[in-house]
Amino acid sequence: MKPTDYINREDLYGAHNYHPLPVVLDRGEGVFVWDVEGKRYFDFLSAYSAVNQGHCHPRIIKALVEQASRLTLTSRAFYAAALGEYEEYITKYFGYDKVLPMNTGAEGDETALKLCRKWAYTKKGIAENEAKIIVCEGNFHGRTITVVSMSTDPDSYGGFGPFTPGFIKIPYNDIPALKLALLDPNVAGFLVEPIQGEAGVFVPDEGYLKTAFDLCKENNVLFIADEVQTGIARTGKLLACDHEQVRPDVLILGKALSGGVYPISAVLADNDIMLCIKPGEHGSTFGGNPMAAKVAIAALEVIKDEKLAENAERLGKIFRAELLNIKSDRIELIRGKGLLNAVIIRPKGSQTAWDVCIALKENGLLAKPTHDHIIRFAPPLVITEEQIMEAAAIIRKTIEGM
Ligand code: PLP
Repeated sequence: MKPTDYINREDLYGAHNYHPLPVVLDRGEGVFVWDVEGKRYFDFLSAYSAVNQGHCHPRIIKALVEQASRLTLTSRAFYAAALGEYEEYITKYFGYDKVLPMNTGAEGDETALKLCRKWAYTKKGIAENEAKIIVCEGNFHGRTITVVSMSTDPDSYGGFGPFTPGFIKIPYNDIPALKLALLDPNVAGFLVEPIQGEAGVFVPDEGYLKTAFDLCKENNVLFIADEVQTGIARTGKLLACDHEQVRPDVLILGKALSGGVYPISAVLADNDIMLCIKPGEHGSTFGGNPMAAKVAIAALEVIKDEKLAENAERLGKIFRAELLNIKSDRIELIRGKGLLNAVIIRPKGSQTAWDVCIALKENGLLAKPTHDHIIRFAPPLVITEEQIMEAAAIIRKTIEGM
């Protein structure tokens, strides 16, 4: 089969809810992926930061395979040997009393929203059905109906109403707007991405998270951090909130919690919040299954043992410096933290960020535009200095040549 045959087959039988770059991948290892014709590429998307530990990390795959041939799924109707081990491991790792395991990032967000509302009614004393949660414009928290109800991106919510009520939308990185919104006594939570990933790696001003957290505390409002994309070493710290020494009341993790091998998400909180949800009130058939438990432990061990946060911090600086050296009027702005970076592309004629990504692909590097003019660069965190220099040279050659 030729690459176009694979593409046409997906087009024919799959829903058209994505617009992939025309490359058909077949294999991955570390920072590289290979297409069906054997061409090698740097993966600078890392499955939207799910593959922080690199493709097919042997230690994570070993955990997956061993548990897969032992016990895969019990449902939560019974106890499972691996689940408690994982719960103890992840709660101690991130420093929370309890974890609630789910599968996808969107489910993690849904879980946090439900938890926040329950807490509002049982602990804060907000009247039933009156709780509100503050969210930020430009957010991306996934694709379910409630999650797109929070969105300000017409591509996400358009045509999918009616929407879930109970959200107050304020501009991101805007403390006065947050102060104003917190005047409403029915506010129970503030849900925020420490860096807005899908919005185009929008890094808020230094101090924003800390000030927002302090304001939440003053108003008895839960600070809920969606670290599905920014968490687990991506930005140069274990959590992006660690850059400002903020410990969220509710922490949502996903993506790299599995090293990209399996859908695993989690919500972490202390007893006072987490125990507001009682048996039968929330759950998922697959959430916390034995395979996920073992895979997540291995994925988190790799982050610590291979010092991937430190690597992201160090190489992120080198990478941004290399990007700043590119001599091209096509680059409007470079921003990011650790190895979550973006280049804002200045359109030229009809050429957009998509065209730059096509040219990068031809030169052996895969990245994907977010919106029309932004390219996110987020390689696996196992990348070496030599590899990042090689990748930066590809980006430079491509953009300077356009
Ligand atoms: N939250 C954030 C910050 C994300 O970036 C994403 C996905 O990109 C999600 C939630 C949704 O995760 P999932 O696609 O696993 O549902």
